[in-house]
Amino acid sequence: MRAVRLPAALLALLALAALSAWRSAPPTPRGADAPETEFSAARAVEVLERLLADEAPRTPGSAAHAAFRERLLAEVRRLGLKPETDEGFACAPHGSCARLVNVLAELPGTGPGPAVLLTAHTDSVGAGTGASDDASGVAVLLEAARALLAAPRRNPVLLLFDDGEEDGLLGAELFVRSSRARTIGAVVNLEARGTSGPSLLFETSAENAWLVRRAVSRLPRPVTSSLFAFVYDRLPNDTDLTVYKREGLAGLNLAFLGSAARYHTREDSLANLSRASLQHHGENALALVRALAETDLREPPTGRAVFFSVAGAFVVAWPREAAPAVALLALLLVRLACVRRGGRLLPSVRAVSPLLGPLAAALAGALAWQLLRALGAFPVIFVPRPWTSVVAVVAVGLLAALPVLAAEARAAGAAVASWEKAWTSTALLGLVLSLAWPETSYLLVAPALVAGAARLALPERISPWLPFAALGVLLLPLALLLPETLGPAALPIVAVAFGSLLAALPLDGTRGAWRRPAGVLAALFVVASAATLVLSRPTPDEPEHGSMLAVQEAGTPDARLVYSPASGRLHSAVAASARFERAPGLLPWARKASPFAAPLAPTSAPFPELEVLDSAPLPDGRRRLRLRLASPRGAPRLGLVVPDATAVEEIRVEGRLLPPPYLRSRPATGRPLRLFVRAAPPEGFVVELTLPAAPREAFVLDETPGLPPSAVALGRSRPATVAPANGGDVTILYRKLSL
Ligand SMILES: [Zn+2]
Repeated sequence: MRAVRLPAALLALLALAALSAWRSAPPTPRGADAPETEFSAARAVEVLERLLADEAPRTPGSAAHAAFRERLLAEVRRLGLKPETDEGFACAPHGSCARLVNVLAELPGTGPGPAVLLTAHTDSVGAGTGASDDASGVAVLLEAARALLAAPRRNPVLLLFDDGEEDGLLGAELFVRSSRARTIGAVVNLEARGTSGPSLLFETSAENAWLVRRAVSRLPRPVTSSLFAFVYDRLPNDTDLTVYKREGLAGLNLAFLGSAARYHTREDSLANLSRASLQHHGENALALVRALAETDLREPPTGRAVFFSVAGAFVVAWPREAAPAVALLALLLVRLACVRRGGRLLPSVRAVSPLLGPLAAALAGALAWQLLRALGAFPVIFVPRPWTSVVAVVAVGLLAALPVLAAEARAAGAAVASWEKAWTSTALLGLVLSLAWPETSYLLVAPALVAGAARLALPERISPWLPFAALGVLLLPLALLLPETLGPAALPIVAVAFGSLLAALPLDGTRGAWRRPAGVLAALFVVASAATLVLSRPTPDEPEHGSMLAVQEAGTPDARLVYSPASGRLHSAVAASARFERAPGLLPWARKASPFAAPLAPTSAPFPELEVLDSAPLPDGRRRLRLRLASPRGAPRLGLVVPDATAVEEIRVEGRLLPPPYLRSRPATGRPLRLFVRAAPPEGFVVELTLPAAPREAFVLDETPGLPPSAVALGRSRPATVAPANGGDVTILYRKLSL
């Protein structure tokens, strides 16, 4: 085996990174002239233009949302389908409730079903129109339905345009209570947490082997892996699929998440929605639904899978229980290859010494990330152009790994020993992963399989490059997605990925051979770091999140404007426009501490009201209260906050018992209690709860979108690089009381 020269290795790394970026990018959008059985982004955009109209935010109960629904019903009818509406009241476990309207339409099948549910949510947050999140999903449903209607299908397909997702997956809660839910065999859910990037198949229900075999493997350009769900399960995010999975339904989840800074802001607009992402989303949805519509969905088989896509071309899977056996096979092949070249079957301790190169890359990557952060490169989590920081961290990671790898290669003495060491360690680590977290083990096991097989079957000149390419094709698409998924904290992992790849080649350890490449990497680090400092600042197009809240408590003379920019920095123009000061704990129900606050002229509007309809003592000394909350000014959102909710039990809103907590993000289950109702009727809503004997402090509040006239100038003082996010700018009036 000839040692690989460092410049060749680095060029190969660059080529693999380019291949990964290209193959995991979404496909070219199809024009309006695409065949009628296929998905066309151009046709979906035409639908979106009609649907979004003035691009107003669509919170449940708002006039803009109702108008959107009318346009949606017209689009469903245009397809020749008969839309249905399902109105109701639903609550989420963390205390968010709303009156909702779900829209449904069924595409009949030639058989009785069960049906395939294809779903996206119609509502948006208050801060923007949600052209990606999730109007893009709504348009995909319509364009996919058009394509599906061009040919018959065995199972019926139910389109569910659900409401109230942003307020706590409420439309999904409403749907699972309906009789229609019992006709469903599998769910495909569409989401977006950004405006660009590939449409990832990032989540499946637990017993997923049949789903992978029958549906996921049919994706035309798959970007998926059992590792995605493993990471996603550890994030505080939820989608409607969480509710469907809780109900035991089989399901698949698709989302794109590039340009995450635009998520839940005005920049989630139709203009900013990537047509390529829309095309990918649509092709994925159509392929999954077509596959599931031809599958017998009665009593699907059990069994879980380890699966992954390869270069956007195809999906490989094996049973989860087989993961240790596959890992053992990989280890055996690697060791057999060593035996064939005169080694022993059992590796010596030296051959399995830890891979110090990747560790050095991790350490340097972490230091570079912290350095860039200290210099102000990441004022917020999701910054524009994250790739400059990726280049910087990868360059410095490789730079740190080089001398370590060169020293290891010299210590190993020959390329053969270096290869043996790298792949024995990789296969062993893969075996450990296959026992601990089988879903992740393919990352190391599959390349180790390739390494052993290639070494046994192919000439020495080629064999080291194949496992290197296999590792790169699996590792790099994931690594390159990470900064946009998790933020800059993921940068050291990207450095490890590149360091591991370099370590997988039998490198030339000749003293001095690495000096010139090291110089190039050092220069790259400096240039990319400087670029990061300039280019990663929030822009008007990918802004910093910074909502303003006008707040006033009943019985106090002053109102306050509360401002919490994501960077924690008060921009000079804002600071100059009013007397801002740090105001920790100003909002008793707010999750974040220490926003800025400035005085505002008081309002003349009436404050929200709470009426005790009934207070019944219980035998154990506690009290059962019935309360009516109302907003005399007709605010669309009304809430009750009990800061210490210890022993506050059996909460009913409009007679509906709050469901037990099940979300992975663990919302407040005990203290504090935050109950919010959207689209409450003018006469208010009724809450029942059991309280301990002693009185409890509570707040009743109502919320309207936008700032009062006295605060409008202040709102405009924000630089163009700051945009209201999530709920957006709102006016909150509240009353403190004792219950
Ligand atoms: Zn969404």
